[in-house]
Amino acid sequence: MIVVMEKNATEDQISHMTDRVQQLGLKAHVIRGTERTVIAAVGDERGSKRESLESGPGVAEVVPILAPYKVASRELKPESTQVQVLDFKAGAGVVGVMAGPCSVESEEQIVTTARAVKQSGATALRGGAFKPRTSPYSFQGMKEDGLKLLALARQETGLAIVTEVMSTEEVDLVAKYADVLQIGARNMQNYRLLEAVGNSSRAVLLKRGASATIEEWLLAAEYILNEGNPNVMLCERGIRTFEAHTRFTLPLASVPYLQRKTHLPIIVDPSHGTGHSYLVPTMSVAAIAAGADGLIIEVHPTPETAMSDGYQSLDFQQFDDTMARCAKVANALDKQLCRMPK
Ligand code: PEP
Ligand code: MN
Repeated sequence: MIVVMEKNATEDQISHMTDRVQQLGLKAHVIRGTERTVIAAVGDERGSKRESLESGPGVAEVVPILAPYKVASRELKPESTQVQVLDFKAGAGVVGVMAGPCSVESEEQIVTTARAVKQSGATALRGGAFKPRTSPYSFQGMKEDGLKLLALARQETGLAIVTEVMSTEEVDLVAKYADVLQIGARNMQNYRLLEAVGNSSRAVLLKRGASATIEEWLLAAEYILNEGNPNVMLCERGIRTFEAHTRFTLPLASVPYLQRKTHLPIIVDPSHGTGHSYLVPTMSVAAIAAGADGLIIEVHPTPETAMSDGYQSLDFQQFDDTMARCAKVANALDKQLCRMPK
């Protein structure tokens, strides 16, 4: 439920009510809006907890949250959340672009890509060091050596680093080098891993499971938020359907639908979502037109020789052209494409 405080509630009253929520065995999340402060009281609501909170000092009303996810819901927080990491921003009218190779392969590959995508207007660098591959015989990533190269690319360019963490045991290691922890589609329902990144100080990019419903995806985000990490971005990366012409089916209606249901930023991945580099530019533009708060795009210096996902990666020129088209659409919608300071 939501404890809505009066407009003129004092800090003492807010902290008193936060304590009361905790004494009732519920988790308290304080959300300060432009209009008023609300306290989300999350947990088992049985008993007379609601009545007891209603009579507290400075309380305007106590209302139930109807959605199964609570902290992620728009009911709880009507204002859109903006996630900011270094110069990367996404949400609340700002569109942020993350770009880079599927996998980190070498110092030269990652540093030249970082420089190129920065030049074209990306503010975050993606690159997998721990790769979740369908076959155990495929390239599994450079692991910690790859993380070190990502950190070097950040030092060279100032771009924020986005990279996947695949297991609970590796969260601290990945968080040592990365700015955004990516939870891959295959791990969207790995609840212990979600809790572990929820306890990290790094922002999280939560990819949609290939066969997850939107409600399951939002409940997965809830696991992270519930641990106290507010910096969660959702990533639509396509779902598995009977259609075989594209690698996955990219449902862009999920973007405006999610925007009604959640305040979290929504990022679209047109690379995994289509599996064909020639579809990526148009679907990037379409994602922004649908209201996406950001994009994550695979870019490689020579897609033909990439160690993973080359067939869906853009080269530098294609990425540059795509960014120019995206900027026009963002501007037409009165949104701003987030840029590195000059
Ligand atoms: C990736 O980003 O390279 C990746 C493996 O993505 P997903 O988890 O969406 O398949
Ligand atoms: Mn990939």
